[in-house]
Amino acid sequence: MKFSVSSKGDSVSDKLKSRIDTYLQDFGLKMDEEEPDIVISVGGDGTLLYAFHKYSHRLDKTAFVGVHTGHLGFYADWVPEEIEKLVIAIAKTPYQTVEYPILEVTVRYLNGNQEEKYLALNECTIKSTEGSLVADVEIRGELFETFRGDGLCMSTPSGSTAYNKALGGAIIHPSIRAIQLAEMASINNRVFRTVGSPLILPDHHTCVIKPLNDVDFQITIDHLTLLHKEVKSVECRVASEVVRFARFRPFPFWKRVVDSFIGKKE
Ligand code: NAP
Repeated sequence: MKFSVSSKGDSVSDKLKSRIDTYLQDFGLKMDEEEPDIVISVGGDGTLLYAFHKYSHRLDKTAFVGVHTGHLGFYADWVPEEIEKLVIAIAKTPYQTVEYPILEVTVRYLNGNQEEKYLALNECTIKSTEGSLVADVEIRGELFETFRGDGLCMSTPSGSTAYNKALGGAIIHPSIRAIQLAEMASINNRVFRTVGSPLILPDHHTCVIKPLNDVDFQITIDHLTLLHKEVKSVECRVASEVVRFARFRPFPFWKRVVDSFIGKKE
């Protein structure tokens, strides 16, 4: 089996990475940065986002596992003290995997430029670079509302605990194949009206956001920020691809929610 270890880049994560590299090679596994079967991300949830994008072209052939060197993560559940245990578990293949839905984003342009496709593990956000974002929101080909405000966020279930949560979105269990649209400070008055609530779309519904103001747009895909000019539409849907996590023990999602946001009662 081929593996690769991605580090956050701080000294603690780098040291851990080199220990994992050595242990796994001692077990006869082959280090392969280009075509790994398993990617061990050492750092935090942000590090796993980077690893996901590095290997997003081969998600069907790569499983991910996260070791956190900071606070408990949603994607990173192993702690540094457990790496011997983790390495043994990885070496004893085959392991189980769980699949989480991800988001497919297609940006189309007015100037005839080739459309761009992206996959997001957490979310895609759309903001105007100048003033408010004014955009028609279409669901399944029908106009749903005209949005005016700071921006829109379309998240995955596993990304629902990230930016989406800060926008008042619901936390969605990652076993549900859905995407969630959350508003960023919509303007609501007698002229402009939006639903105001986050919307959860099933995997056979597509949402298309069509900007109405003639400005540039800042589109984020997880940690990546891209400037897009002459945007005709941004289409979001549950991707046909999934992200796969290697699981060596139970890692209940609701327990992660409690541990991260509520904590233990005294
Ligand atoms: P960052 O601003 O350095 O860190 C964002 C924080 O979000 C980190 O604490 C990260 O955890 C955490 N995080 C990432 N994915 C998560 C998830 N699925 N559930 C719960 N927490 C999560 O940015 P970054 O490290 O490059 O990560 C990019 C992400 O930041 C975006 O995908 C977006 O979700 C998030 N973000 C959040 C807000 C907000 O909440 N207002 C605003 C902008 C962006 P670790 O410390 O473990 O890495």
